[in-house]
Amino acid sequence: MASDPLPVRPKDRFLVFGKPRIEQAEIDEVVASLKSGWIGTGPKVGRFEREFAAYIGVPHAVAISSATAALHLSILAADIGPGDEVITTPMTFCASVNAILHAGATPVLADVDRHTMNIDPAAVERAVTPRTKAILPVHFAGRMCDMRALGAIAAKHKLEIIEDCAHSIETTDQGRKAGTFGRFGCFSFYATKNITTAEGGMVTTTDERAAARIKILALHGMSKDAWKRYGDEGYKHYSVVDLGFKNNMTDLQASLGLHQLPRIEAWWLRRKELWQRYNRAFADLPLETPLAPAPGTRHAYHLYTLLIDPMRAKVSRDEFLTRMTKNGVGVGVHYMAVPEHPYYQNRFGWKPEQFPASMEIGRRTVSIPLSADLSDLDVDDVIRAVKVSLG
Ligand SMILES: *Cc1c(COP(=O)(O)O)cnc(C)c1O
Repeated sequence: MASDPLPVRPKDRFLVFGKPRIEQAEIDEVVASLKSGWIGTGPKVGRFEREFAAYIGVPHAVAISSATAALHLSILAADIGPGDEVITTPMTFCASVNAILHAGATPVLADVDRHTMNIDPAAVERAVTPRTKAILPVHFAGRMCDMRALGAIAAKHKLEIIEDCAHSIETTDQGRKAGTFGRFGCFSFYATKNITTAEGGMVTTTDERAAARIKILALHGMSKDAWKRYGDEGYKHYSVVDLGFKNNMTDLQASLGLHQLPRIEAWWLRRKELWQRYNRAFADLPLETPLAPAPGTRHAYHLYTLLIDPMRAKVSRDEFLTRMTKNGVGVGVHYMAVPEHPYYQNRFGWKPEQFPASMEIGRRTVSIPLSADLSDLDVDDVIRAVKVSLG
């Protein structure tokens, strides 16, 4: 079947992986901001923060330029830095590890469970040293980590938990939302995430002082409310009170977020439907499909990952990626394990073989489109492309 000369979708109808859904209300809101002249950090950012905090059910949310910045500033706000170790997963985007490094701390990897693809609490326990200050779990693909076990380890060793919720806006366990188990929840609104502001992120926390610190760090270290200095209440002097960064969100980005936020549930339902259609379509194929969500939890359905065993599928993972692309369907790899990358190998001497579950997943995994923007016909094409791309 792989020799079928006709692509499932011709080039001019290439299905972009992770295509965001943008509706007219967002476009109108962005245009209104542009016309108002207030395109920087302003009242819409404040509204987006309040509405996001209400959605997650926390008292404080700080809007920021990215999840990478959210993680970085959360680590700083937890007073973690040089000499301190932070334990995270090798099955994540490089940003999770880079944020630890940017804070001056040392990342320590603990392998994942081969089936849940989430950090394995037993591996975390083994990685704890007297220098460990925090655990940084990633709810991979939208599946909740074992927060009970991680919470117990954190309590025993007096560690912070900083959650990377880039995949998991909708994720819950017994109704409790991802991002509320540790002191900080870090969310992403990057273009391919479940909701988007093009680029953007959010820190959620119950800690008022930490929220204020992150807000200051995100805007040059200037005292709170410095953004009001050009407002109509008269010029206000500001003080630089900390060594900050340039990580603020703008009203243009918040214009997108304000209209994406109320659609989270409807889009989640749509992705759940697609997920179940994929499960049915692939049940009899020589592929490994994602583990079913654990009882009592809600999966965010951010990624649908297939695992390709070249012996069974009669095609290598990389050849499968090529065939999918030739068939007009965009694909992703989430992720080559962090220790596969030369920078970390050179700096820390990490080898993929030290983290066998992450290594195996990273070398076999393929993410297929799962955006709420997909039509039923798009999904038919994805399914056909998967079938013709096998050996
Ligand atoms: C996307 C992503 C990030 C980074 O998000 P940005 O908003 O692009 O900085 C961090 N961690 C994970 C797991 C991600 O998928």
